[in-house]
Amino acid sequence: MNWGLIGASTIASEHVIGAIRANGHEIISVLSSDAVRGANYAARHGIARSTTSLDELLGTQGLDAVYISTTNEKHHPQALAAIAAGKHVLCEKPLAMTPAEAAEMVRAAEAAGVVFATNHHLRNAGTHLAIRELIASGRIGRVLSVRVFHAVHLPPHLQGWRINDAAAGGGVIPDITVHDADTVRFCLGEDPVDVVAKAGTSGMGLGVEDSVMSVWSMPSGAMVQAHESFTHRFAGSGIEVHGTEGSIFGRGVMTQKPVGEVELVTVDGRSAVPFGTHDLYARSLGVFAAAVAGEGRPSADGVDGVKSLAVAVAVREAARTGQTVRVNYEGF
Ligand code: NDP
Repeated sequence: MNWGLIGASTIASEHVIGAIRANGHEIISVLSSDAVRGANYAARHGIARSTTSLDELLGTQGLDAVYISTTNEKHHPQALAAIAAGKHVLCEKPLAMTPAEAAEMVRAAEAAGVVFATNHHLRNAGTHLAIRELIASGRIGRVLSVRVFHAVHLPPHLQGWRINDAAAGGGVIPDITVHDADTVRFCLGEDPVDVVAKAGTSGMGLGVEDSVMSVWSMPSGAMVQAHESFTHRFAGSGIEVHGTEGSIFGRGVMTQKPVGEVELVTVDGRSAVPFGTHDLYARSLGVFAAAVAGEGRPSADGVDGVKSLAVAVAVREAARTGQTVRVNYEGF
């Protein structure tokens, strides 16, 4: 498969370029809004071409698919253009600035017959696949509650638009709450109904929130508690799932690397749960390519991206108003 990169981004450089190549695919061009940055990026990563024109990128001979990792406000127009050009699209989260825009992207891809997916990497983690399997197989009985710990310390090289530019989609809610929404949906197989939340700044956010805590109601009656932040140096990350017959403790697992530990606790005692240690992004790209070849679906498809964004937007609205906010999934 031949890929074009839309966005000369950090995430592409740190994870996705390698993941594309690990699947035996080629990257044939990169789009940047700045010609010099694009050319330097292409040279640094061994990509033959760079361009500042989206039309030119989409018209590149032999292009099959694009990976969109620009700042969040650009995802919607760039994805619609790629879909209109008949290209398969793997888009970064959040899919767009609003769930309505994200839904428009999904429906456009459906109409065009191209594969459209969201890069929710955590679904591809061996730890999360193991947690999901434990829940689905009934090992912890009926799920009573979930607690997600995702308060990190944003490294300096990522402290740009994320902490000071609302128009580019900054803030911890579009950045991290979307991942937690997707993780919970993936593990439990159900969608949050409504949410309450408090958000604020704790030392890093300039005009956008850098910390949020929220509680979500699930259709089954399970309760979910989520904490996301950019400012916590030593908190570590994790997910706990508590059921009538057992509890699952995932420690150090809300991360980009295949690390952490998963423990199952039941009346029989405590046991370490084995999990795959494959690269999260390589798996995401491999499953995407299989979907393009007509085998299965992407690990997180477009509807998953609409839904994770819908939960995040509800959390932000709940924090703003102090009210319980029902999640609007735009008809999905
Ligand atoms: P970056 O800030 O690295 O890149 C975003 C855009 O910023 C690029 O497209 C680039 O524009 C521009 N840019 C990059 N470097 C510079 C610079 N030195 N000066 C000026 N502009 C610059 O963002 P991230 O890679 O951190 O995030 C990109 C997207 O990926 C976001 O949507 C984010 O939410 C998502 N993401 C997803 C992750 C995941 O694991 N699923 C993890 C991290 C991010 P241009 O292309 O025009 O050159």
